[in-house]
Amino acid sequence: MTRKINIAKAMLFLIICIIGSHLIYASFYDKTLSILDTHLLSCITVILALISLVILHAMPTDESETPGDKTSTGISAPHTDDWSINADTLEEVVILTCPRNLVLKANKAAVEMFEKLFNDKSIIGLEFAEVFDILHSNLEDRANADQVLEAILQNPSIQYREMLRLKDGRFIERVTRPYDENGCRIWYMHDLTYLMQANEDQALHGTMAQEEAARTAEMAEQLYLAKAELEKNQSDLTRLANTDGLTGLNNRRHFMELANNAILDMSSLFEIWVIMLDIDHFKKINDSHGHSAGDTAIRLFSETVTNCIGSRGEIGRMGGEEFAVYLPGVTKDDTEQLAEDIRQHVEKLNITHEDISFQFTTSVGIAKVLSEEWSIETALDRADEALYIAKTSGRNCIKAA
Ligand code: GH3
Ligand code: MG
Ligand code: MG
Repeated sequence: MTRKINIAKAMLFLIICIIGSHLIYASFYDKTLSILDTHLLSCITVILALISLVILHAMPTDESETPGDKTSTGISAPHTDDWSINADTLEEVVILTCPRNLVLKANKAAVEMFEKLFNDKSIIGLEFAEVFDILHSNLEDRANADQVLEAILQNPSIQYREMLRLKDGRFIERVTRPYDENGCRIWYMHDLTYLMQANEDQALHGTMAQEEAARTAEMAEQLYLAKAELEKNQSDLTRLANTDGLTGLNNRRHFMELANNAILDMSSLFEIWVIMLDIDHFKKINDSHGHSAGDTAIRLFSETVTNCIGSRGEIGRMGGEEFAVYLPGVTKDDTEQLAEDIRQHVEKLNITHEDISFQFTTSVGIAKVLSEEWSIETALDRADEALYIAKTSGRNCIKAA
């Protein structure tokens, strides 16, 4: 187009030059033209024409000023009117179908894809339903794709984009839309397997990460439970090691430990008193009512004494039917009062075991932990001596060392 305009301009300039040269020559010499004059005139015309061509070439055309022909770097770009793509160079399958749904054109990729399926038979002139039918027979699930073709046959204005999954694992995207008003339709198909696989991999990695997180959480929970179990076992073991099985009271070893710690912690301004308790004639209980009844008696005796002490001190089973108590920060009166309280409660205690019931009493010895003593042992010995005196004094009574 630009070239045509330039030629037209050049012709116009040439005519102007010829007329101009005639006028110039006529005005200078004012006579009719001889053969020599004609040669001179021709020379002037050629010179003027050359000058006009040089000027024309240097002049920018209207279109060369439009954006797009030259880039900012000065590189020429193809004009939009000249822009066309050879469908055979595309990787995508492109098929044009026309009225009566026959395949009119198919690019190279389409030929490669379909003619392989048709044993090298050309697909040009076949109905698109027939062409795609053979493709659909290679799909994982052809029901949807068949419905789409059916809908397009019913309604030629349909535009549709779908993903086809082939049995060989490929994913093909198929896009179709009307091409022109004559009922032609264009079909594009391209392989998106790499994209779908990347998505699947990503989804798989996501799932794997989730599973891993779930496994870690489960392991953390198991560890937490195992730790809790271990701690519980540890505390059970400690409790078993420190307590007496029948009564649940501190055993002798633990009682001594607690009492000695209490002595170390206690300010010298405060007194610590100890009580020794022994059930009277316990052997008779066993002998009369059985060992099991004796156990019940020991358990109820323990509960009664523990309730009487409350938070004032600690109790321990020293062995058999002998018990010891230490009371930090109490006076002799407090201790005697508590001992009496225990004695009375035990005296009133009614033991019922199976179909029998019985009662018993307890003898009590009390002693003070001396200020120079750093161990409970000697105080317990003194309380034991006092207890012996209580026994020999008729039992069911309290004696102080
Ligand atoms: P005393 O008034 O002088 O203390 O007389 P006692 O019979 O209570 O004293 P003794 O030491 O002679 O008898 C204590 C009995 O306690 C002997 C033992 O068989 C019994 N005994 C020790 N431990 C248990 C136990 O755990 N359960 C039962 N049922 N009997 C026990
Ligand atoms: Mg006894
Ligand atoms: Mg005894």
